[in-house]
Amino acid sequence: MELSPRRLAMLREMGVPWREALARPAPVTPTITPPADPAEPAAPALSIVAAPPELSTLDWPALREAVASCRACGLCESRKQTVFGVGHAQAHWMIVGEAPGEQEDLQGEPFVGAAGRLLDQMLRSVGLTRAEHAGEGQPPLQPAQQVYIANTLKCRPPRNRNPEPQELQRCEPFLVRQIELLRPRLILAMGRFAVQSLLRTDEPIGRLRGRVHRYQGVPLVVTYHPAYLLRNLPDKAKAWEDLCLALDTMEGLGASPPGPDARA
Ligand code: URA
Repeated sequence: MELSPRRLAMLREMGVPWREALARPAPVTPTITPPADPAEPAAPALSIVAAPPELSTLDWPALREAVASCRACGLCESRKQTVFGVGHAQAHWMIVGEAPGEQEDLQGEPFVGAAGRLLDQMLRSVGLTRAEHAGEGQPPLQPAQQVYIANTLKCRPPRNRNPEPQELQRCEPFLVRQIELLRPRLILAMGRFAVQSLLRTDEPIGRLRGRVHRYQGVPLVVTYHPAYLLRNLPDKAKAWEDLCLALDTMEGLGASPPGPDARA
């Protein structure tokens, strides 16, 4: 398998030994299934197909306010603050993670701890950023370079325990409305809770990776959670494949590549 300079650079940025990546089959160019046919068997049955009426008219500031004042589950008792999401409102990419941890609870922004640093590295490796604006003296950022990051839960579970089904259920409408407002070109779902709640499945990530799913017609790529990757370094090579699949999917949609040389 021959890797382009760009993909080798991605491997370096993610800290994946290239021998490991080369030992794996080449990432496949995805076939994107045609958009949303309600009867399409590949699209899992979703019990929530749109944000509930009380959220469906909210714009970004009103939705942020609704999240900040939410008391729908017990997590509101222990949170320091809600963690709404970060990124540009026209970003082409959306990352969905699990729930805020300690640092996120303190700072009010998703993925700012160790897992967040790995996520930023992964994003940088494909020319993407969560920044809303380019730095001074830089050319303006394009939506194709930008990601919006949100979690399935907006409040930290105590001691970072797993989200409970009722918490996921109560919080989900906020994420649904975020997706409606953002209308991303692609969703990258990271970790079991994000994947299973968006796709309405109990299948493990290992069985869901490597193909393009759809959420409300939006292509969705499944990958491991960065916190898991920090504990299971060899699986970074699989996350690299998943990112390649996401990139290829975007390019298959005719979207412009994110970074200056991401197509190489
Ligand atoms: N893990 C997540 O899934 N989300 C965060 O915001 C932080 C860690």
